[in-house]
Amino acid sequence: MAESRQSVAETIAGILARRPVLRPVLHAFQPLLEAQATLPQQLVPLLDKAGMHLPAWQAERGQHSASVLAGESLAGLHTALHHAATVLLPLLQAHQGIQAHVPAATAFFLSQDNKTVAAAEALLAGDENTLNTLAGKAKLPPAVLLFMLEAILAPVLRALVSSAAEQPWNKENAWHEGYCPVCGAFPSIAWLDKAVFDEKNAFLAGGGGKKHLHCGQCGAEWFFRRSACPACAEEGSGIIELLREAKKAQGERLDWCTKCKSYCPVIDLRERAGFPNLDTMALGMMHLDLVAAEKKLHPLKAAFWNQF
Ligand SMILES: [Zn+2]
Ligand SMILES: [Zn+2]
Repeated sequence: MAESRQSVAETIAGILARRPVLRPVLHAFQPLLEAQATLPQQLVPLLDKAGMHLPAWQAERGQHSASVLAGESLAGLHTALHHAATVLLPLLQAHQGIQAHVPAATAFFLSQDNKTVAAAEALLAGDENTLNTLAGKAKLPPAVLLFMLEAILAPVLRALVSSAAEQPWNKENAWHEGYCPVCGAFPSIAWLDKAVFDEKNAFLAGGGGKKHLHCGQCGAEWFFRRSACPACAEEGSGIIELLREAKKAQGERLDWCTKCKSYCPVIDLRERAGFPNLDTMALGMMHLDLVAAEKKLHPLKAAFWNQF
């Protein structure tokens, strides 16, 4: 992980140099992406003050495929969620389809009675009924509540993950699943690493190409088998196929499963210079989402731009 990653602005500049047609959408979302990228650092002290830390990794839980936050109370995130909502609500309201809902959303996300915490717990538990009930009471369309909740929760969970000293889920055989070891979400994007050199003896230490899944919800990243599908866990030759542009793909592609037809965007770092901001890249590869929709494939992780 030695290579430092590009900023949101650098990543957007790189995408626009090749796909200028995405200028309106990338510029519309740049303030939100940048705020989400810088918020986690500001939120760490708030979590410290609340005594909120990522629960310790338990090997047995990992072996039983239970994510770190599964079943945990998120009450200690209240102050951080409130701060994230204060910063992000003005940016979210700039987006089409959201404006009309800002008063109701403000009342919901800035309420003092932990409604955001309840919604976040329901989201992590995959409890759609509770989310729909909360949306109904708040007079918000469920899709709008979900979009805003995910945007507000992501930097808070990233602050929590960044406070963990190491990534115990990446130790050998610690985690085998295609969903996030921390929050249980499916990955929004994946990356294949470059060849690694061992400086001490100057021998090639690894040929690269290891697959890492990236969680757009909490920022955690974990190793995954390249021949397996993160969604249905089918594994073997012929299960995963690649979808990419014929020319100048720069390592950008979709990996899709021939069994369950789900797909995930992938960046092969061996085929490009620099390490882009992955959340920006997921949006910047929406031209491939369109091709996937035509092939009747569905995204592993739904986002506002890949629902066709
Ligand atoms: Zn996660
Ligand atoms: Zn599958």
